[in-house]
Amino acid sequence: MITFPQRLLDGYHAFATNRLPTEQSRYRELSERGQSPEVMVIGCCDSRVSPEVIFDVGPGELFVLRNIANLVPIYQPDANAHGVSAALEYAVTVLRVKHIVILGHAQCGGIRAFVDKIEPLTPGDFIGRWMSMFIKPGEVVEQREHESMAEFVTRIEKAAVFRSLENLMTFPFVRTRVERGELQLHGAYFGVAEGSLFVLDKAAKQFKSASDSE
Ligand SMILES: [Zn+2]
Repeated sequence: MITFPQRLLDGYHAFATNRLPTEQSRYRELSERGQSPEVMVIGCCDSRVSPEVIFDVGPGELFVLRNIANLVPIYQPDANAHGVSAALEYAVTVLRVKHIVILGHAQCGGIRAFVDKIEPLTPGDFIGRWMSMFIKPGEVVEQREHESMAEFVTRIEKAAVFRSLENLMTFPFVRTRVERGELQLHGAYFGVAEGSLFVLDKAAKQFKSASDSE
């Protein structure tokens, strides 16, 4: 017998009882006028890193795309289907979001699989292929001397944010709007254990605690 998860039914009832009454008019308005979020977040599928929870947003505020290790591929207009590119195309050209945030996080399983060079999980090796876009041809990603495994993984988790930001600029419709000052690209990193958020200071190439910039 197939049973819809009880946790979800309970959750929906809680939503319908507690949250919906205060947000009903907002939902109605969004339904009639359509969505117009100003921010797109590209995050990881990880169940601990929910952008709507972390940023405490309501309906219609965030256009969210989640995938393994919050990666953006390079612009590849070919005959294949590209999910990330489709979401980006819509967010940037139709919704005209003003900000795109790449949200990386600690203890990322995708990054861990990548640094551990795990064996393919299935013949399709979908994670392996997905993660391989993280490195450029000829690039070597290795643990440095005097770097612990934890430090190495953290460095690569943050590097994934940098790489995604770099790859975003390979999309002509992104680059054009960034250059016109109509779109800003940001990086952030979520520390799961502490629930801490770090925001990328692009000039300094460093993640700085969001608690310092209230
Ligand atoms: Zn992850």
